Amino acid sequence: LIILGLESSCDDTAAAILRQPDGGPAEILASVVHGQNDLHAAFGGVVPEIAARAHAEKLDICVEEALAASGVALRDLDAIAVTAGPGLIGGVMSGVMCAKGLAAGLNIPLVGVNHLAGHALTPRLTDQVAFPYLMLLVSGGHCQFLIARGPDDFTRLGGTIDDAPGEAFDKTARLLGLPQPGGPSVEQAAKDGDSARFAFPRPLLDRPGCDLSFSGLKTALLRARDALVTDQGGLTEQDRNDLCASFQAAVADVLAKKTARTIAAYLEDAPAEPLLAVAGGVAANQTIRAALETVCAQMGVGFTAPPLALCTDNAAMIAFAGLERFRGGHRDDMRLAARPRWPLDKTAPALLGGGK
Ligand code: ATP
Ligand code: FE
Repeated sequence: LIILGLESSCDDTAAAILRQPDGGPAEILASVVHGQNDLHAAFGGVVPEIAARAHAEKLDICVEEALAASGVALRDLDAIAVTAGPGLIGGVMSGVMCAKGLAAGLNIPLVGVNHLAGHALTPRLTDQVAFPYLMLLVSGGHCQFLIARGPDDFTRLGGTIDDAPGEAFDKTARLLGLPQPGGPSVEQAAKDGDSARFAFPRPLLDRPGCDLSFSGLKTALLRARDALVTDQGGLTEQDRNDLCASFQAAVADVLAKKTARTIAAYLEDAPAEPLLAVAGGVAANQTIRAALETVCAQMGVGFTAPPLALCTDNAAMIAFAGLERFRGGHRDDMRLAARPRWPLDKTAPALLGGGK
């Protein structure tokens, strides 16, 4: 099977082509991502209208580039997968319309994909991971512990009750005058910083359960910054680096400790070779990956994380999730709707935790 995947739910326009022989592993033939950082830079965050227009302009180009890079012709495609939510609705609609046009024109099946399932299934694309596995999904808009049992079968064990970690990284960067997206710039600054200089809070660690909270961390960072500005009249580069390092250490610590707690609960009824997989943009962070890997090693649980480029938004993960759904018999038609909200766990209350 050869499948084209399209992604346009936030500020990355992406197309990818995957090939998977029956019974064999999926191979990424091409994965093209066009970011929009420069378009949104002046506004300090993603502007939905600008994003939607840019997606509409860039999708065709991404598809052409993916076809050229893979050597695959349009007529070779067996199916089209597209992010149908959750995300910024204008962008999701751009992708869904593009996919419908291609599927109708080529007369091939269309498969709508949940963007979060794309992230959560990526470890099966990049590593030999079998269901079930424990998943920590940490991204720009979400933070959830899930048991992944199948391409459409996720059970949510807990998650953030307020901000997502990626959002906290982005806000931290904004408060310190560092460029967006905040994750990579905060991680870079933290390399030269002292993570012990500021004692930032570790919210909810005193409470049982798998839920997390990150909004207090952002407030603490704001206070620490303002105190420095009041005392010194401004921030030195060292201050900035120390704030970033201390913030990142707090996020890593909270994620690691809550992961340990979630693993302990999971192990009560776990498969013979339990495994934790992490995915989403924040999973690209080396300090966080290392902290999670350490916890897994201590608890005798396997650990896997996708390569960095497949942690942040991309279309290879959408094509792969589409392949998995397609092989499971799922087909969509021209009625496929773009959804701003689409919880992964159908039993989860849509408004409780997980953000966006
Ligand atoms: P969602 O997937 O929840 O809908 P999204 O698609 O906007 O949100 P992703 O692309 O999965 O989010 O992840 C982007 C987020 O990851 C941003 O908030 C970004 O700051 C963060 N991020 C990216 N790289 C890093 C890093 N190295 N360290 C920490 N955070 C990072
Ligand atoms: Fe994402």
